[in-house]
Amino acid sequence: MPQKTKHTPMMEQYFSIKKEYPDAFLFYRLGDFYELFYDDAQQVAQLLELTLTSRNKNATDPIPMCGVPHHAAAGYIDTLVEQGYKVAICEQVEDPKTTKGMVKREVVQLVTPGTVMDGKGLTSKENNYLTACVTENEQFGFAYVDLSTGEVNVTSFLDKDVLLDEASALQTKEMVIVDLDETLQVELTKRLGLVFSTQDILESRHEQLETITENVQRQALFLLFSYLERTQKRQLDHLQIPQVYQPEHFLKMDHYSKANLELTRSMRSGKKQGTLLWLLDETKTAMGGRLLKQWIDHPLITKRAIEMRQAQVEQLLTAFFERIELIEQLKGVYDLERLAGRVAFGNVNARDLLQLCHSLEQVPAIRNSVLSLDQTVFQELLTELSPLEDLVALIRGSINEEAPLQITEGNVIKTGFHAQLDQYRDTMRNGKQWLADLEAKERTQTGIKNLKVGYNRVFGYYIEITKANLATFTPPEYFERKQTLSNAERFITPELKKIETMILEAQEESTALEYRLFLEVREQVKQSITRIQALAKAISTLDVLQSFATISEQYQYVKPVLTNEHRLFIKEGRHPVVEKVLGKQEYVPNDLIMEEDTMISLITGPNMSGKSTYMRQLALTVILAQIGCFVPANEAIIPIFDRIFTRIGASDDLIAGQSTFMVEMMEANQALQHATKNSLVLFDELGRGTATYDGIALAQAIIEYIHEHVKAKTLFSTHYHELTELANTLPHVINQHVGTVEEDGDVVFLHKMMAGPADKSYGIHVAKIAGLPESLLERATTILAELEATTPVSTTPTPVAVEVIEPIEQLDLFTEDSSVLNELEHLNVSMMTPIDVMMQVVKW
Ligand code: ADP
Repeated sequence: MPQKTKHTPMMEQYFSIKKEYPDAFLFYRLGDFYELFYDDAQQVAQLLELTLTSRNKNATDPIPMCGVPHHAAAGYIDTLVEQGYKVAICEQVEDPKTTKGMVKREVVQLVTPGTVMDGKGLTSKENNYLTACVTENEQFGFAYVDLSTGEVNVTSFLDKDVLLDEASALQTKEMVIVDLDETLQVELTKRLGLVFSTQDILESRHEQLETITENVQRQALFLLFSYLERTQKRQLDHLQIPQVYQPEHFLKMDHYSKANLELTRSMRSGKKQGTLLWLLDETKTAMGGRLLKQWIDHPLITKRAIEMRQAQVEQLLTAFFERIELIEQLKGVYDLERLAGRVAFGNVNARDLLQLCHSLEQVPAIRNSVLSLDQTVFQELLTELSPLEDLVALIRGSINEEAPLQITEGNVIKTGFHAQLDQYRDTMRNGKQWLADLEAKERTQTGIKNLKVGYNRVFGYYIEITKANLATFTPPEYFERKQTLSNAERFITPELKKIETMILEAQEESTALEYRLFLEVREQVKQSITRIQALAKAISTLDVLQSFATISEQYQYVKPVLTNEHRLFIKEGRHPVVEKVLGKQEYVPNDLIMEEDTMISLITGPNMSGKSTYMRQLALTVILAQIGCFVPANEAIIPIFDRIFTRIGASDDLIAGQSTFMVEMMEANQALQHATKNSLVLFDELGRGTATYDGIALAQAIIEYIHEHVKAKTLFSTHYHELTELANTLPHVINQHVGTVEEDGDVVFLHKMMAGPADKSYGIHVAKIAGLPESLLERATTILAELEATTPVSTTPTPVAVEVIEPIEQLDLFTEDSSVLNELEHLNVSMMTPIDVMMQVVKW
């Protein structure tokens, strides 16, 4: 970094600015380039593959430097920010032409991952949230903003897990903090790969915080706003009034469960493909797409609110033609939320305003479509669905339909909008006529037929006469020679000069005037930002609802009956995403019936028979129901759940460096600690990650614990057949199994759930499907037969009555000094295949 040697005034200025932004790359404007120096230059040259040069090449300590042309800077800045870096844009804030000495420079914006407005990293159907977190008296205050749409939310809670869940659901790339616990920071970074930014809290924007009563929430918002002020350095008029929410007012799912269920991100690719969001997204606007994701992340828990959405979906579903019309109308609506954001930011051009106008012009038709439905269920939405006619009139009256991208080059404002501008335009138009007249006049006077009036940038307007003609013609005195070409001479005349001055002045003045007028129009639009945002909200809601209706129709979903009781009744249910992928014919529908007093359903069945699909199916059906959509079933009665806990499939939490079994136990613990009798718990093959006895013992103890203490509706799949006997002793446990048939010695999985326990495991059959060598399969079959002959039911822990919970003792099959026990203890089961385990058991 800075050397001790004396620096030029410019470098001194650079250092003083860089000092303020140690954690950002400083893009320092020098003429037509942004330059980077020292470490910044070295790093950026590498990241962007730029040539690293140096300033003062010949000095003893040359300064490393690299640069990008200012007109191409946006792309480079995007790339850096997308990779998690921050960029401080430092501009010349004085005109170098009129300044003596050093030009003043200032950072005009700090671009960070959480504050990107329209970079290429910004996907139209996704929000980009900047989050802020403070702690006070063991409480977390948590606020977030999407700068591009102006949406602001705030909440508070006690539990750090809620912070992880919220931050994870928002997929935030940047969190502003003051004094946040370091281990928590490490955890957040590991899990979410976000960047932290620190910021002092400056108490600003009080007027927006009047309704926020909790101090820790106010502090979180102050922190968020302080950071926005520091980074954006401009008015942010589009920031909406902060909405207070409580995580417990929505169906809660921790980040494990959300990831497991692949609600918005696929486990394998991290992308949308294959997720519930992917299935449901028939939205036609970018705003609708974003709102859909928010709804999926926050299913409702109040019956009335859910039923309201259901009623709206039902209306749209039945009114087929109105819906088709509505869909067409929605296609004409641009991203109003982000347009409003850009109006506030001052970076809209004429075409953006035309897009805004075009979108507003769809509103009357959209309104009519909604008016033709049952108005009682759309009443609230209709009040927000205002066509903003004044804005349409303003934009239509002022902005030229063929306006160019640039707002400084004229042709932006319509003729008829402003008298002075029209006059300039007349002059320009007349000017052309005057020039034509002048040309004609001079032709007659000189008798030269091909005399012509032309224009070039250096000399302006001229009269051109060819050399051939000049041989016989002497120009009159008022012809002033201006330029000699090989075959012609160019002249000007006082009259031509006069016309030229008028035309050029009119051109210059009109461009400046147009720019001023454009800014005025933009300012007027800015006054309406709140109205645009309200309209945007209504349109995006409508868009999500029509998307629900479209999907429900396409896949023949039914409206579920939601209750505050505990009976779960699903007839012919399907897994919505698997059904979409496989096709309806291929998917085997299944019932799921758990009466009021049934707490736990134990599901047995071979691997690959469809147990985890069945469990996911239930979770997704519940989520669909609670976001207000219809569900994939023929009939459904669903109790409203407060939380969903899942331990399904292998979610090896490799990033966090936990073993599979550890993760399994942590997830199980979440459920056991926090589930209520209104929760849904899904445990798939719990205990599989450890040795058999351990596994069975833990699984049984967990079932008993849920039965006794938690009382949540629970699906528990297992391949430990021993556990199925629990249904004999525990009154609220039932057994289900997946049906199979054997045909010519081959087992066929029916994917059909049936009552009662399964009687056989089909591990070897699955191995066969997987293509293991024939000889190996034969050997396994022999071993299995031997095992079945030599190790009868003795491994089965007799289920114990609930009152006597002592299953572990039953597993003491070995004396303490047993060498087998010793080996067993050191066995790394998670690294062994089932066949390895069998071989080992045979050896013992
Ligand atoms: P398990 O959990 O029993 O090992 P999975 O739920 O992973 O089995 O399902 C195994 C395979 O069977 C999956 O590829 C899935 O697509 C398919 N499958 C599961 N349930 C059904 C069903 N009801 N109808 C058709 N195919 C199904």
